[in-house]
Amino acid sequence: MSESRRGLLLINTGPGKGKTTAALGTAMRAVGNGMRVLMLQFLKGSWHYGELDAAAAFGENFVLKQMGRGFVKVGGAETDQEDVRMVEAAWAEAREAIYSGEWDMVVLDEINYAINYKMLDPEVVAEALRGRPEMVHVILTGRNAHPLLVELADTVTEMREVKHAYTKGILAQRGIEY
Ligand code: ATP
Ligand code: MG
Repeated sequence: MSESRRGLLLINTGPGKGKTTAALGTAMRAVGNGMRVLMLQFLKGSWHYGELDAAAAFGENFVLKQMGRGFVKVGGAETDQEDVRMVEAAWAEAREAIYSGEWDMVVLDEINYAINYKMLDPEVVAEALRGRPEMVHVILTGRNAHPLLVELADTVTEMREVKHAYTKGILAQRGIEY
């Protein structure tokens, strides 16, 4: 095993729970190693997640920003252009951050949904990731990761649902879902 440090591309995808929270765990591990982590959350915005305050407690080494507004209507003409603009702005900021040299790790939470909903071109994302500075770790989350990105990634984990409380009618719980 080589010890040489290099930036990896990780993807957390699949229908089971744990994609975002696994990314948060990795981010925390990196911050603990003195690394600087930026997490941009695509589409999210209306809910206040506990991780927003948890990240803030780490100060400027762990910056977490919601880049959307939560409720996204998608599918053809249903897609609200305001949501598309917000995805485009989130991607512009993400790209800039990856190339800035300011961050050791950039997490693009729920970006796979934005791509899946055709709000963002997977080829554009792949191109930017291929050419990124070699030390930067990038994590992409969300169901239905695009094959182009899966191929490009170093580590891809597919969460499989064995069971989820939601199917028993149990609603989202504080500290577990948000
Ligand atoms: P988490 O943020 O808990 O790690 P996730 O990132 O894997 O979840 P998302 O697809 O981003 O999942 O969905 C976010 C919300 O949907 C979370 O509140 C999560 O608990 C819930 N969720 C995830 N998977 C399932 C499922 N299989 N059935 C019902 N709800 C789910
Ligand atoms: Mg998620």
